[in-house]
Amino acid sequence: MRILVVEDEKKVARFIQQGLEEERYAVDVAQDGERGALMAETQIYDLIVVDVMLPGINGFELTRRLRAARVPTPILMLTAKTTTEDKVEGLDSGADDYLTKPFAFAELLARVRSLLRRGSLEKSTTLTIANLELDTITHKAKRGTRAIDLTAKEYALLEYFLRNKDRVLSRTIISEHIWDYNFDTGTNLIDVYISHLRNKIDSGFDRKLIHTVRGVGYVMREE
Ligand code: CA
Repeated sequence: MRILVVEDEKKVARFIQQGLEEERYAVDVAQDGERGALMAETQIYDLIVVDVMLPGINGFELTRRLRAARVPTPILMLTAKTTTEDKVEGLDSGADDYLTKPFAFAELLARVRSLLRRGSLEKSTTLTIANLELDTITHKAKRGTRAIDLTAKEYALLEYFLRNKDRVLSRTIISEHIWDYNFDTGTNLIDVYISHLRNKIDSGFDRKLIHTVRGVGYVMREE
């Protein structure tokens, strides 16, 4: 899952980015409202974290602009103020949730997970298909009784496949949700990662879960 963080305070932005990357999310950072709006309008994100106090256009205006442009991505607003008017303005502008600064990273993460689940059919923290299970909190995977060790990117790929079961995913769509802005989509890296993931989850099992759709991409399904 790919997240955009719009925050001008470098220390805070880096703290959020590092924490989210450790949790296997692909993260881009925009340091002002204008850049944030541009990135949100032209790139694909699964979630946007927006600080209210930004140079140029502030978080409220940014959120209103994205909603007016029909960008449906869930927005988590960060506010330094705890007044009711701010919370109301945040939610009225089109944000889905807000968090008051300073906050513990664990709370930010819980809200991020909750907002990402809202957009997905899967409401549980454990994602499953056939006898494969993925715990989205501990990042541990299991097929039948076999525990599977995943690298950060393999985890991100598997989570994305599981959240989009039965949907054919093109390489472009996969790269847009799993890799950040600096990823070069011209490479065959996605195929390499998928081949590694297949070795881990499908090899040795009769029933394959990742299927190639020739000329299009990949799909995760039971048959
Ligand atoms: Ca700020």
